[in-house]
Amino acid sequence: MNVARAAVDGPWLERTLAEIIRDAAENRSPDGADGPLFGPPAVGVVDGDDPLFEAFAEAVDSRHLRPRAFLERHAPRGSDLTCVRVVAWALPYAENIRRSNRRGDWPSSLYSLARNLGGALCLEAGRRMARALEAVGGAALSPALTGDADAFRSPTTVFSSTWSERHVAYAAGLGVFGLNGGLITRLGIHVRLGSLVTNLPVPCAAGPPRGGHRAPCLADGGASCGLCIGRCPVGAVSRDGLDKAKCNGRRKAVQSRAQTAGPDSGRLLAHRQIVNGRPAWRVPLGCALCQCGVPCEGSNPFV
Ligand code: SF4
Ligand code: SF4
Repeated sequence: MNVARAAVDGPWLERTLAEIIRDAAENRSPDGADGPLFGPPAVGVVDGDDPLFEAFAEAVDSRHLRPRAFLERHAPRGSDLTCVRVVAWALPYAENIRRSNRRGDWPSSLYSLARNLGGALCLEAGRRMARALEAVGGAALSPALTGDADAFRSPTTVFSSTWSERHVAYAAGLGVFGLNGGLITRLGIHVRLGSLVTNLPVPCAAGPPRGGHRAPCLADGGASCGLCIGRCPVGAVSRDGLDKAKCNGRRKAVQSRAQTAGPDSGRLLAHRQIVNGRPAWRVPLGCALCQCGVPCEGSNPFV
């Protein structure tokens, strides 16, 4: 790739990532029956020294990574770290996948398959985007591909992590939080998220204005919509927002159901996902019924 550093801006990042997503093997089901699983992405860029990353130490976890410190640890020795940027992306599920998850009490097998592959796809996208940025002379790395990224139980927020892709995407201007805890992006809430940190001075204007972190539906307890409340089969979404413990209980139930029965479970089990940089056999752990068949599914209804 022969690209001048100055040409690396938001549109360039979005075009480059769109090509990576379009061509990636992870964007197709292993038997080739379904695909592409994800459409063209939305990309946002934020200054790695933005005060929000300090605020995340309180809002998410005290160990939440600071982009500059992360790059200082991982960039090749001698890298110019005058500038630190975080590039975040949202990959929208294809229309047929969203449609398959709009009804019923259990996630569709197609969604479950796409969810797991989407996780692997986001990591692979991080790898390939980093290579593309290195090719123009930058240092770049996805926190999710390092041991610095950790997810764990938290006494205050039930679950937490040292690199919350949702919060990072919010910081990068990709969307605002919805009543059900998802991030409502311009491509909707039913997306997979990923990110990397780089020292290239990419302009930070790629995304829409950040706005308040509470989307209208979260700020008014769902009065303006609230349709995701009724979509959750276990009552994990209410006018107060998301009950993470209830949601996780359902996710566990989804997992054990796929492990023990179901005509599609064999197919769902027959692929691997990269977890913390290592390949591992995975079964579905997602649900996302509250993100399908609702007004924010594939777009932001508030703009
Ligand atoms: S379904 Fe409605 S209330 Fe729920 S997150 Fe989407 S816009 Fe907000
Ligand atoms: S992901 Fe599933 S269990 Fe969790 S809040 Fe949404 S619908 Fe409920």
